[in-house]
Amino acid sequence: APAVDQAAIKAAVDAAYAAVKGDTGGKNADYIPVLAQVPPQLFAIAVMTVDGKVYSVGDTDARFAIESVSKPFTASWLIEHKGADWVAQKIGTNQTGLPFNSIIAIEDHAATTPAMNPLVNAGAIATTSWIAPADEPKQRWNVINGILDAYAGRHLGVNETVYKSESSNYEHNRAISRLLKGYGVIESDPQVALDLYTRQCSVELDVRDLATMGATLANGGTNPATGKKVVSADSAEKTLSLMLTTGLYETTGTWSFNVGLPAKSGVGGGIVAVVPGKFAIATYAPPLDAAGNSVKGQKAMAMIVRQLVGSGVFET
Ligand code: GLU
Repeated sequence: APAVDQAAIKAAVDAAYAAVKGDTGGKNADYIPVLAQVPPQLFAIAVMTVDGKVYSVGDTDARFAIESVSKPFTASWLIEHKGADWVAQKIGTNQTGLPFNSIIAIEDHAATTPAMNPLVNAGAIATTSWIAPADEPKQRWNVINGILDAYAGRHLGVNETVYKSESSNYEHNRAISRLLKGYGVIESDPQVALDLYTRQCSVELDVRDLATMGATLANGGTNPATGKKVVSADSAEKTLSLMLTTGLYETTGTWSFNVGLPAKSGVGGGIVAVVPGKFAIATYAPPLDAAGNSVKGQKAMAMIVRQLVGSGVFET
């Protein structure tokens, strides 16, 4: 395939940034108190190609909580270590059509896949519970953090303020983890799984880190910046399939209809979208729509993709 046209990427990113910057739609997540306090005007876009080149604009040094954008990356580890069929049977692969922390979705599928899929809270807590479950919590955390670090190509720390804020408001997620333990899909202690999951959501990164994580999936599981293989090409592909199916909460259908790329959003305001074999786009802007997706992020990505398709960047 020809090299991706960097000039076309720059033009598309700059145009989307300028067009969307003044958008005032959406509002910060407020069920996690500290997220409500993040300046809502922060906005950044980064694109990394599979040959490791990055173009970024805006508040590129602003760090934000990864939140649910962490979910596909831990899922990829489980796919790599247990196999895609195991993950499909134990956790699940389908849309819930309901909010990311729905208990109704769990109960509705109690007889089949109560955890639903690795990209909603239920399936993500279950996924995390299966990462090195025999080890001590500290070692388990090192494995989880190590997965995210390998994707980002550098060490990502935890925002302790976010972690504490989430930990003091996670009764709903605690209920999910207990319920799933009852259904036999959480390994080991559900409270430890919940705590590790909460830490995982509190990892902070900037928009370039997120673009690197996505570019690793675009590049068949090998980080374009470090050259290190994180997961196999098959595992990366299955991870992208999950993102296409259920990456933007209950409005993933709308997203796929409008943009058509595997992606994942989080309530911290981040979104990553992947063009397999080509590049990844990451955006950061805190105000969210009702489902939990960054409003500016979705608009910017739709514009960038439309413009790049027009410029022929997707042609092979
Ligand atoms: N830590 C958040 C929660 O479990 C993640 C939510 C999200 O980004 O979807 O509520």
